[in-house]
Amino acid sequence: MIEIDNVSKWYGPVQVLRDCTTRVARGDVVVVCGPSGSGKSTLIKTVNGLEAFQQGTIRVDGTSVGDPATRLPALRARIGMVFQNFELFPHLSVRDNLTLAQVKVLKRSRDQATANGLEYLDRVGLLAHQDKFPAQLSGGQQQRVAIARALAMDPVAMLFDEPTSALDPEMVGEVLDVMTGLAQDGMTMMVVTHEMGFARRVADRVVFMDEGRIVEDSAGEAFFEAPQSERAREFLARII
Ligand code: ATP
Ligand code: MG
Repeated sequence: MIEIDNVSKWYGPVQVLRDCTTRVARGDVVVVCGPSGSGKSTLIKTVNGLEAFQQGTIRVDGTSVGDPATRLPALRARIGMVFQNFELFPHLSVRDNLTLAQVKVLKRSRDQATANGLEYLDRVGLLAHQDKFPAQLSGGQQQRVAIARALAMDPVAMLFDEPTSALDPEMVGEVLDVMTGLAQDGMTMMVVTHEMGFARRVADRVVFMDEGRIVEDSAGEAFFEAPQSERAREFLARII
């Protein structure tokens, strides 16, 4: 579903991705972890074209992301992305947040978009909050709305960049529960997170990055039971 081959990226003279190669198979959950500044956000953003890269190829569901002929807005509409900071539209109700892109980008009718959006809102347990504005919701609730909004676009895959790291601790669980449900339903997911308990429960594979390189790319269990590299061992010892 997501094929990343020999991707390198520079910011000016500084190389931030070094020959990264990995795969996310359909229905798999791949957790990306590693120290701060190792390139996790950069890597995940290259997948939906939010960051350009200078070498290598990335394909999502067969579409080449770096190909100048690829229409990035159309590609992005098919890949859900959820960031650390919820990024809901503050001036729109929850319901309108859920419908806007469906109407504008997918050209769905308002009724169709609303019905679909509310189905996902129900799924994240927030149907009763559809008339509220983002500021009237807790951080955890906002993040669940952001996930519902992404799902309402019927994405082929979901990308998450530290979706719980800006949340108060008591709200982390509700967001991870939604993500666990998604994983169990077979969504293809690439998740940057430091939540190693979550990673251990749901990750089919773990990608460990350091200084722009993919240092390990292992089955979830193997990574946690027996990390191959000294850097990953140090990282796990610090974080768990
Ligand atoms: P964190 O865990 O802190 O989120 P990360 O693994 O997501 O870190 P990235 O944000 O991908 O790391 O950053 C990788 C490297 O690229 C870092 O050295 C960072 O300083 C650099 N970098 C990121 N964005 C830019 C930019 N716009 N211009 C220049 N350098 C950048
Ligand atoms: Mg990051």
